[in-house]
Amino acid sequence: MKEYITVIGGGLAGCEAAYQIAKAGIKVKLYEMKPEKYSKAHTNQNLAEIVCSNSFKSNLHTNACGLLKEELRMLDSMLIKIADETSVPAGQALAVDREIFSEKVTKTLENMENVEIIRQEVTNIEKLLQEGIVIVATGPLTSDNLSKQIAKLTGKEKLSFYDAAAPIIEKESINFDIAFFGNRYDQERGKDEELENWKQRLQGQEASYINLPMNKEEYEIFWQELIKAEIVELHEFEKKEIFEGCMPIEVMAKRGQDTLRFGPLKPVGFTDLRTGKRPYAVVQLRQDNQEGSLYNMVGFQTNLKFGEQKRVFSLIPGLEQAEFMKYGVMHRNTFINSPELLDATYQMKEIPNLYFAGQITGVEGYVESISSGMVAAINAIKQIKNMPKVVFPKETMIGALADYISTPKENFEPMNANFGILPSLLEKIKDKKIKYNKLADIAIQKLKAVIH
Ligand SMILES: Cc1cc2nc3c(=O)[nH]c(=O)nc-3n(C[C@H](O)[C@H](O)[C@H](O)COP(=O)(O)OP(=O)(O)OC[C@H]3O[C@@H](n4cnc5c(N)ncnc54)[C@H](O)[C@@H]3O)c2cc1C
Repeated sequence: MKEYITVIGGGLAGCEAAYQIAKAGIKVKLYEMKPEKYSKAHTNQNLAEIVCSNSFKSNLHTNACGLLKEELRMLDSMLIKIADETSVPAGQALAVDREIFSEKVTKTLENMENVEIIRQEVTNIEKLLQEGIVIVATGPLTSDNLSKQIAKLTGKEKLSFYDAAAPIIEKESINFDIAFFGNRYDQERGKDEELENWKQRLQGQEASYINLPMNKEEYEIFWQELIKAEIVELHEFEKKEIFEGCMPIEVMAKRGQDTLRFGPLKPVGFTDLRTGKRPYAVVQLRQDNQEGSLYNMVGFQTNLKFGEQKRVFSLIPGLEQAEFMKYGVMHRNTFINSPELLDATYQMKEIPNLYFAGQITGVEGYVESISSGMVAAINAIKQIKNMPKVVFPKETMIGALADYISTPKENFEPMNANFGILPSLLEKIKDKKIKYNKLADIAIQKLKAVIH
């Protein structure tokens, strides 16, 4: 094995990884296809290009992304350090001057002794793998040639090109005076059972779904607001292909007032506990993490603006106070089926020389991508030095993200940092601020223990 590590992709994850490797005294070859070739969203020849919003989100510890950034600062993240140095006024958020940010990252890497930057599109990973450890960090717009290679290595069906995700809700914030657990037709099967037994069974959470029944009036108010809610404008390159496999809930709703009631909101097989009758419509939520603290809205892939998702979906009875841990998105996004392919160090289970990092692993967002680049690099360094792996504690945001993308699940969708992926506290704390502060304190303590 050669004494260098290859990083493919000079974006946010790849640059962080390259910096960490070089800083550890190991040579790194960083491949970046720009300016030879640009994705449809990249335009600047510098590394670590910020393709859209210039915000790295909140700096507060009571914000999940704020906590993640703090953890990255503790681990000496080059990108967060440069983001701090190139910040522009944005209240509690960390927003950067994108030009200066990318320029500074590029210069820092160019000036590092152990870094060799190769401006070339990689189309053959197998060849690089024969030479040593490779970290693939080519992002949500990985070039087609390389995507084909990745599909070959991981299995074609394990690579997605579009992210059409429904919102994810924290279970604790759902109103169970209205919502109930139950699988479709379970109730009808158990018609003769004592209602009380049945209710107990449902509250005992034996069923896979949480159901939110609606009467006619509730449904009509919801539908009216849904069809006139504001949507996100897609990029030209996304418009044509994105809806082929999956229709957004608002597009389906616009087809007619009852379309949803014959689709994802069909009420058959349920009884509304409030009335003892079949509801007019039912929204179903499916468990999203092993712990059962997060639920996704079945069939609610959406392109509504985030604020509109909160406004309109909170009209669904039972979701009045819902905490949206992730909003629905529909966009171009190349990502692998990490739960089947990777472990919590972002290493491929079946090809130990291969790591993935960044958005391609199913973490979502700038800071999340940086965090996975950090973890993959730390572990690639350990591997080259024949030292044990570092799996970050699940109580840290870095560890929780790594755990999320590497834990088997039925429908894997990319995930951003949020408090719902951290293990729950033993005590129930109603006040969100106090709760998130406590979770953040635990995360920082756990990370300190890893560092020292
Ligand atoms: C249009 C769009 C808008 C987004 N907006 C936001 C936002 O506002 N906020 C947010 O938090 N997240 C956003 N994201 C999501 C995500 O956080 C960013 O895409 C982030 O840049 C991902 O980091 P990365 O390192 O995984 O990939 P990137 O930063 O995209 O880096 C990948 C690099 O790999 C290079 N590359 C690709 N293929 C090859 C190859 N074969 N050989 C060599 N180099 C290659 C690319 O040129 C690129 O420089 C957006 C994504 C997209 C696509």
